Amino acid sequence: MRCPSCASLDTQVKASRPTDDSSSIRRRRICPDCGGRFTTFERVQLRELTVLKRSGRRVPFDRDKLQQSVDVALRKRPVDPERVERMINGIVRQLESMGEGEVPSETVGELVMEGLKGLDDVAYVRFASVYKNFREAKDFEEILGKLAEGEEELPPPPKKKRAPSEP
Ligand SMILES: [Zn+2]
Repeated sequence: MRCPSCASLDTQVKASRPTDDSSSIRRRRICPDCGGRFTTFERVQLRELTVLKRSGRRVPFDRDKLQQSVDVALRKRPVDPERVERMINGIVRQLESMGEGEVPSETVGELVMEGLKGLDDVAYVRFASVYKNFREAKDFEEILGKLAEGEEELPPPPKKKRAPSEP
């Protein structure tokens, strides 16, 4: 496994254990060249998946790409990587159980949004803003409004203070 920091091919497994739900094996690896540490996961792949893009193009499903977009949404958020792993596993299992192994890209996006909503509100809004290609502030308000549903009602916005120069 190539080191993500220095690209050395000589990395070593330091520890190996199943994730909490035993759906993956988690390996901690170390790179003797640069001292970099990283984690890899070994998982079951039940079937090959094809993603049908909005353009009509078909591409092989790429779990790493999905992981990358999730990682971008979760950047600097305090979420346990194992929870992320479980969420992605869940998405992949759902996709694998659908239809004939071909899934619309919209379905993938909806599942990721749903999964992120359960993990981290900020990541959810980040992902949704890219995925839904928000152009207007009201789109954000709408999705933030949906997040607030079921929670306490927000207090009314503070009244504008009158500037001292005004009569
Ligand atoms: Zn390295």
